[in-house]
Amino acid sequence: MDLQAIVDDIVRELEPRLGEGKVADYIPELARIDPKQFGIAITTVEGQTYKAGDAETSFSIQSISKVFMLTLALGKAGEGVWNRVGREPSGSAFNSIVQLEHEHGIPRNPFINAGAIVVADMVLAGHAPREAIGEYLRFMRYVADDETLSIDEKVAQSEQKTGYRNFALANFMRGFGNLHHPVEHVLGVYFHQCALALSCVQLSHAGLYLAHRGTNPLTGFSVVSPKRARRINALMMMCGHYDGSGDFAFHVGLPGKSGVGGGILAVAPGKASIAVWSPGLNKVGNSALGSVALEMLATKTGWSVFGT
Ligand code: GLN
Repeated sequence: MDLQAIVDDIVRELEPRLGEGKVADYIPELARIDPKQFGIAITTVEGQTYKAGDAETSFSIQSISKVFMLTLALGKAGEGVWNRVGREPSGSAFNSIVQLEHEHGIPRNPFINAGAIVVADMVLAGHAPREAIGEYLRFMRYVADDETLSIDEKVAQSEQKTGYRNFALANFMRGFGNLHHPVEHVLGVYFHQCALALSCVQLSHAGLYLAHRGTNPLTGFSVVSPKRARRINALMMMCGHYDGSGDFAFHVGLPGKSGVGGGILAVAPGKASIAVWSPGLNKVGNSALGSVALEMLATKTGWSVFGT
């Protein structure tokens, strides 16, 4: 299979559609991004990277960070994570508050905002916020094998100033006793994890452990056990695209996690880690062209977990 030809074809086929969707504007710093960009990178478990379009341009990974923070929290708290956050798809928007009251402040899953805020609270345990952010950044540099990764402080500050819904979610959960640290500290960590800037190439490296039984084949670094990698992939499949998760499974058939920066990380277990990025979002807040690109890729490669 000629993966370079496949990514080149995808970029060519999407060229006329550049700019589709709507850039996230509720975070002022993200509203300034040029929507007419698209990048794709595939890193295979054999260690080859294939890239096309704006694959080297950094973007804000936003909610894709939830996968990596969950990995960290599982390392710290083990199965105890599941006492404070569920594993069911929510069928609601990423920033929804509706289920939280019924479910006593226990978020449906770690990938909606409420769940990710609880996960950030777990990673914060025993640390000052600055140290927890440092731990996350070191972890990201380790999994991506890239010391140049950095957090875009402007994006973090921009969300800190305008993240009213996240403050509401966090205060609500603190009221239920499901946050153990001050809301400002937890959200400081959360906004910084979201503000990590990565290119598609870097993101495809960072996600490779999920495609290779928990170990990064490029470096040999063991990140999680095979069982844990499988479970994180299962959560990505069921919950990684919020109320668009069913549609993503239907069209793409791979575990994936989106972010409002327009990135998507998808995992083809045993085969490759794939990153796409295009800033315009569809109605449920997932990259419009990114989703289309992954469907094209799944069709061209036959890499669905549901059969070829
Ligand atoms: N930082 C964003 C928020 O909390 C992340 C949301 C997302 O990427 N879906 O609103």
